Amino acid sequence: MGYDGPTELYIDGEWTSATDGQTIETADPATEEPYATVASATAEDVDRAVDAADAAAARDGAWRSLDPSERAAHLHAMADAIDDLSDEIVLVESHDNGKTPFEAGLDVDMVVDTFRYYAGWADKLTGQTVPVPGDRLDYVQQEPLGVTAHIAPWNYPFQLAGRSLAPALACGNTAVLKPSSQTPLSALYYAEAAERAGIPDGVVNVVPGTGSEAGDAIVGHPGVDHVAFTGSTDVGKGIMSRAAENVTGVTMELGGKGPNVIFPDADLDDAAAGAHYGIFMNAGQMCWAGSRLLVHEDVHDAVVERVVERAEATTLGSGIDDDGRMGPLISESHLEDVEAYVQAGLDEGATLATGGSRPDDRGDGYFLEPTVLTDVTNDMTVAREEIFGPVLSVISFADYEEAIEIANDSPYGLMAGVWTTDLETAHGAAADLDYGMVSVNEYPVTFPQTPFGGFKQSGIGREQGTEALAEYTQAKNVNVNLEG
Ligand code: NAD
Repeated sequence: MGYDGPTELYIDGEWTSATDGQTIETADPATEEPYATVASATAEDVDRAVDAADAAAARDGAWRSLDPSERAAHLHAMADAIDDLSDEIVLVESHDNGKTPFEAGLDVDMVVDTFRYYAGWADKLTGQTVPVPGDRLDYVQQEPLGVTAHIAPWNYPFQLAGRSLAPALACGNTAVLKPSSQTPLSALYYAEAAERAGIPDGVVNVVPGTGSEAGDAIVGHPGVDHVAFTGSTDVGKGIMSRAAENVTGVTMELGGKGPNVIFPDADLDDAAAGAHYGIFMNAGQMCWAGSRLLVHEDVHDAVVERVVERAEATTLGSGIDDDGRMGPLISESHLEDVEAYVQAGLDEGATLATGGSRPDDRGDGYFLEPTVLTDVTNDMTVAREEIFGPVLSVISFADYEEAIEIANDSPYGLMAGVWTTDLETAHGAAADLDYGMVSVNEYPVTFPQTPFGGFKQSGIGREQGTEALAEYTQAKNVNVNLEG
């Protein structure tokens, strides 16, 4: 079925084509067939979007001037609208990104929960009074930043856009959202949902476009007060430099190389299931993938046997195949990059336990078999770099100290997993791992209520939880002299 959803930019409450009429063509990664043609924003369109967002964010603007409880009601209405559009968004996301409907459904559910969670916060953002010397009243109040930009990647196009949009709006900011040019479609449903929810014009603006044109224009725009970026570490570094030109604040959600650590006392069936889910969900195209499986040498063979068995039983399927359990990669060039990583692993001494090839029986589509490499050491390319595909690198360790040392020996620090039945090992490892998130006996997991973000080159700042409220507000201190 062809795409019949929104295809234009959404600026100031209006659907509009790009000023010079330029477009992006998208293809379904499972079939390689063209799927949609979408307007691609120019720098001029970005100006229009930022101006509209700025007007709605002004003190007397349509969003900031609302009572907080009215903002909360709007965000609940937005959650309802997204819920109502859920089936459509799931289908579109499956075609645009290749993920299975099951995975796309989880993403949409997470967004609905996130909007409801932050709707609850909209009228509960309190400040504090500060005891200062003398006869004074001193208080701190949290104010919105103004115009927030949201730049999203292609791997969770809908979910990651909503993850930062919801808290930014709850805190009284307005938004300009730019999805990846590889997956521009689902973001347009935020515009559709905003319309249905009666969100005032200019509060939510959606401008699909390329990173080099629309993305750069957003980040370098003096009217943008904060950039919430989710994407690769290299692009993130460039965005930080560009944002620095206007001293624009940033939240950076970047790459990862997650260690999933299996201690010898773990429940091996559960651990193997978690290892499988942690690398083959979303075809491994996850910042928080458990791409390094650290296994104690005593249980190494038993775990590898279980993980290989699960990998070989995984059904590959397109977004619309009912029995698909792992979808394709996003593009031919990305598939080639992932294949090159597998080859690099083999060249550097790893062993191919399973996978490594394009499946014979799938016809078109950017599919790769679930792949497990054993005999990996932590200095190999496959252990150091983010592959962003269905490739698990298994590393053996001898004791607790070695496990922690290997796990922490990475430029990244997003999420780590720990598998053990021993409380001391669980909490000890949670304390010793240099990661923004540690998950014990399940992997990976996150909730709207819990902070998401990384140490080291995995990012700066946090999305989700109460932590995100601090990202999207700024403190104002007021001192009142009460003497005479
Ligand atoms: P990417 O960095 O190539 O692109 C991300 C977004 O940035 C896209 O919208 C792109 O158009 C835009 N962009 C590119 N160049 C730009 C520029 N110069 N100025 C402004 N915007 C620009 O990332 P990707 O390939 O889409 O996504 C995969 C990466 O995202 C992986 O590294 C993954 O780990 C990371 N990621 C991180 C998280 C997290 O929460 N930490 C979540 C998902 C993905």
